[in-house]
Amino acid sequence: MPEVENAENIRCLTAANPGYMTLRGTNQYLLGRREITVIDVALGSDANLDGLLSEMEALGGTRITRILLTHIHLDHCGGALALKQRTGAEVGISRVRAGHLGGEDFTYVEGDRIAYDGGELEVVFTPGHESGHCCFYERERKILFSGDHILGKGTTVVPAGEGNMVHYMESLEKLLSLDIRLLLPGHGPFVTDPMGKIREYIDHRVMREEQILQGLREGRRSIGDLVAVIYADYPPALTRVARSSVEAHLLKLMAEKRVHQEGDRYFPGDGT
Ligand SMILES: [Zn+2]
Repeated sequence: MPEVENAENIRCLTAANPGYMTLRGTNQYLLGRREITVIDVALGSDANLDGLLSEMEALGGTRITRILLTHIHLDHCGGALALKQRTGAEVGISRVRAGHLGGEDFTYVEGDRIAYDGGELEVVFTPGHESGHCCFYERERKILFSGDHILGKGTTVVPAGEGNMVHYMESLEKLLSLDIRLLLPGHGPFVTDPMGKIREYIDHRVMREEQILQGLREGRRSIGDLVAVIYADYPPALTRVARSSVEAHLLKLMAEKRVHQEGDRYFPGDGT
């Protein structure tokens, strides 16, 4: 049975897609009174869509009219078009990812305001985990829907390639300027100390960066060597993700000229 959690007239239906990366599953949020807006739709299965429609009714809603997507990873947008087909809801996506689904109705960028039946969300562009990632901020109630930018438990993945550690860190810093009282993540439990959580996330990345620099200073030269020491306690299933994360950190450090690369070997310093 999918979990349902209720916070301040927001219903959260956790999709039945638990895993290492998704924790207990993807949190799908429903908000509004009669016309309901849904943030993220993980699965297009009948079970998931039926679940969302019954949560809509529990909120007192009569139709789902809008679907907002935090980003294009399948565990967040995989059911969006199926829900659109069932309900006629309009689907919105980050402008950076326009056309990705092939069935979206509108796009949004940083600062856009999206009114829903009961409040207003502001789009906070937070690339890093994925280059089109957006959070949604309800200023009046000081609530942030954080997608995969910040999770309720553990840390998020910033993969080299579609992710970007420079942007990710900037996107974390950006959130510090918002007044957030409740953070509703894409995975894991609700966060009632959001500012503490954001600082924890920044500190964690700074710590990882320091571990990587330390590894390089000790003569470790490859991503594999760095992963072996930094992620020694992690299950082997996460090795691929760990490699990608270390690479993302190295790309940031190289952009900052704190690390340089010769072939597939990495060295501390800018090489001069
Ligand atoms: Zn994601």
